[in-house]
Amino acid sequence: MNSVYTLIDGKEKCVSQPSDVALRDRVFSVEDPEDLPEILDHLPITDELPEIEFAYDLIRPGTKENKMVRCVHCKKEARNHSRGYVMKTTDTGKRFLIGRNCGAKHYGAQFGLVDRQFHDQRRRRRQLLRLDKSKALLPNLLRNLKKISESPALKIFEDTQVSFLDLFSELARYLALAHSGELIIPIKVRDYKAEEKDADRLKPVYDEWEKLTTTEKKKRRKEGREPPKLQERFKTLPQQVGNFRGQAFIRQKSSLSVIISDAHSRIQDNFQEIEHLITDRKSTTELRNLLNRLTSEINRVLEVFDLMASMQRFLSRENLESIVSWADRHPEIQGQYKVKSGTLTFDNADWLSEPLTLILPENFTIPSREEFDDFLYQLSHIDDA
Ligand SMILES: [Zn+2]
Repeated sequence: MNSVYTLIDGKEKCVSQPSDVALRDRVFSVEDPEDLPEILDHLPITDELPEIEFAYDLIRPGTKENKMVRCVHCKKEARNHSRGYVMKTTDTGKRFLIGRNCGAKHYGAQFGLVDRQFHDQRRRRRQLLRLDKSKALLPNLLRNLKKISESPALKIFEDTQVSFLDLFSELARYLALAHSGELIIPIKVRDYKAEEKDADRLKPVYDEWEKLTTTEKKKRRKEGREPPKLQERFKTLPQQVGNFRGQAFIRQKSSLSVIISDAHSRIQDNFQEIEHLITDRKSTTELRNLLNRLTSEINRVLEVFDLMASMQRFLSRENLESIVSWADRHPEIQGQYKVKSGTLTFDNADWLSEPLTLILPENFTIPSREEFDDFLYQLSHIDDA
């Protein structure tokens, strides 16, 4: 480990840390800490605070018994920790094992410094490996994205979406009210609670009326002063009659070509930046932010695939049939909707000379999204042991 001068956040600082090139090769964890050479079974006598060479984590999820190793701080004969550190003295190069929480117990606050440095370096290495991975994958990914930007699928989606929202605007408006795809119809039911309230409210008036003589009742009837009759009361309840799929397709008009070409140019810029990056001059946070910008662009691209898939789901025959049967039962939706061999039709004899139709275009094929999913997978599954 060397003391190096480096620019961090625009300031030159002297930090004791390996260069990014060295950091890439640094190993942070060890599988069998007890098999390492020069292992002491006791704390070495030295004033100097040793450095953390490796972390060990012997917990194996899914297995009953976790492996344990002995800790020099606890001074127990039995092996007692599954997680901890391999410490190395800087002068003699001797190693010893200490439990995860025992380092701080033994060395106090000072241990926090070496611990933080170890973890900071480990985190930085992770970002460096992610950058290397991106650099390797981006040229192909950009070529693929360029191809997708020229794919007929984008135009087919846009045209079909515009047709649906224009021709079937009333249907689209009602479907847009369903936030999670529920197909709801309003149904009229008796409101017994409201009727009871009416009865309670009018009880004193009726009681008073009952006390009147027949002659007085007659007189008042003539004058139109008879108490009001109780009326049936109704309320509207939402009733779910089904579900539909592909909500994203009807949500808002999207220009997939614009989203893809914007994403392409921003990913291209990201790639340029990564290619020319002198990482030693950047803080770990800056490296992470650069990678976050890149992955959010990839996610934008994935949204385009989701939108294309939503059109396929929305215009599937089964889905259209559910929608049509709902529209049929909906008291506020006018006109006649039908599905005939996968084609959605709308007829309203009052003002349409011929029915409106829409079908999932036969030549609509969604390009493969595998490379983009794989990119994100690889960036989040870096082997940073
Ligand atoms: Zn211990």
